[in-house]
Amino acid sequence: MARHIVIIGNGITGITAARFIRKLSDDRVTVVSSETDHFYARTALMYIYMGHMRYQETKPYEDHFWSRNRINLVRGYATQIDPGQKVVRIADGNDIAYDALLLATGSQSNKFGWPGQDLLGVQGLYGMQDLTLMERNTRNIAHAVVVGGGLIGIEMAEMLHARQIPVTFLVRENSYMDYLLPKEESALINREIAEHGIDLRLNTELKSIRGRKTAEAVETSQNERIECQFVGLTAGVHPNIDLAKASGIDTNRGIVVNEFFETSLPDIYAAGDCAEFNADGIGSRRIEQLWYTGRAHGKVVAKTLCGHRTPYQKGVFFNSAKFFTMEYQTYGDVPAQSEPHIRSRLFQSGRKLLRINSDRESGRVLGFNAMGVRLRQDQCEAWIRSGTSIKNVLASLGKARFDAEFYSNAVYRQAAAV
Ligand SMILES: Cc1cc2nc3c(=O)[nH]c(=O)nc-3n(C[C@H](O)[C@H](O)[C@H](O)COP(=O)(O)OP(=O)(O)OC[C@H]3O[C@@H](n4cnc5c(N)ncnc54)[C@H](O)[C@@H]3O)c2cc1C
Repeated sequence: MARHIVIIGNGITGITAARFIRKLSDDRVTVVSSETDHFYARTALMYIYMGHMRYQETKPYEDHFWSRNRINLVRGYATQIDPGQKVVRIADGNDIAYDALLLATGSQSNKFGWPGQDLLGVQGLYGMQDLTLMERNTRNIAHAVVVGGGLIGIEMAEMLHARQIPVTFLVRENSYMDYLLPKEESALINREIAEHGIDLRLNTELKSIRGRKTAEAVETSQNERIECQFVGLTAGVHPNIDLAKASGIDTNRGIVVNEFFETSLPDIYAAGDCAEFNADGIGSRRIEQLWYTGRAHGKVVAKTLCGHRTPYQKGVFFNSAKFFTMEYQTYGDVPAQSEPHIRSRLFQSGRKLLRINSDRESGRVLGFNAMGVRLRQDQCEAWIRSGTSIKNVLASLGKARFDAEFYSNAVYRQAAAV
């Protein structure tokens, strides 16, 4: 008999799970979300604001896709789960009964209790409602301050810059994202930020936001007052565990799950940004807050939800981003601080950079960073997974070329000449 699988959250995790459940079974599928009627690419939020895309172009599926595939969409906020009755309570008063439930509730923006953080004109950037608010909050303003040097912070600075709004960017670290990036990569991005006319303040923290009703200025840890009418709070995100916590499911920083995405309660699963693995077997990063990991979680948990209990295995770490005009890709193991077992080879020419890490003893290739040059993901992953020697990687680096101009690139020539 067909069961009813209910999914809370229509982000990449929940939607991938829904699509794969439909491929694998005839079960009834309902996806509940309070944010939007349909799935859209969260990573493209900035492009809507900058006018590169319209909202409808960020939706990978036509609106009729869902009914055709018998995926029932419910717009609503889930306030509580009753695991005894096996129902989810929706804020509008409706109950939805489930046989199995997947929590894919994503993340929330961090707020650290800064004085003034709730003034008008102060906001984070995570979802569609934030984007609407940002449209309103940035109309006719003279100056903006963005707080927090992560990926969302630099995106927000770029968004404001695209509308010719002068931006001061407060970054607590000595250099942009130096907790994740080696110093050469980080320095390139500092340069990129400054070259775009952003007033980058390193070693600077937010102390308070001043204003009566609306933000008027920020005060920094350097005892400076910066007049502004908009403050973007982009100091990271944390797993959204509100619903799980309200329902008595074990939580830590995220919703605690095993490698099958099973929570502490029967027939309730959690995956994507909101989940935290309990087992060391899953690897060092217990919380994975990335687009591609959300998709991977969704695919694997769908199998388990359809009766083929399948453990999640981490693949080779991968991420990519664009910092203004600078493209960045990373594969495998490229820590910010060099480690004794790693030999790091750096090839750099102007604004282009390629770093290849290998194991000092065995010579096995461990990871790649590319900036301003693009490498093929499948090739880099294959080299890392198979433990190809650095010698062979350097000899056949052309196989990883993505850019047509890669062969004529000075960085590539340096690496190939080793
Ligand atoms: C601006 C921005 C840019 C990003 N850029 C990148 C990038 O370039 N590369 C990358 O890898 N990652 C990026 N990320 C991170 C990436 O988008 C997330 O890792 C991914 O979207 C998480 O997917 P998810 O499905 O787990 O959760 P989400 O996409 O957060 O979806 C969860 C959904 O559940 C809804 N929800 C939560 N609680 C309830 C409830 N109780 N009832 C009903 N609905 C609920 C939320 O409103 C939300 O719509 C970016 C994130 C942001 C905010």
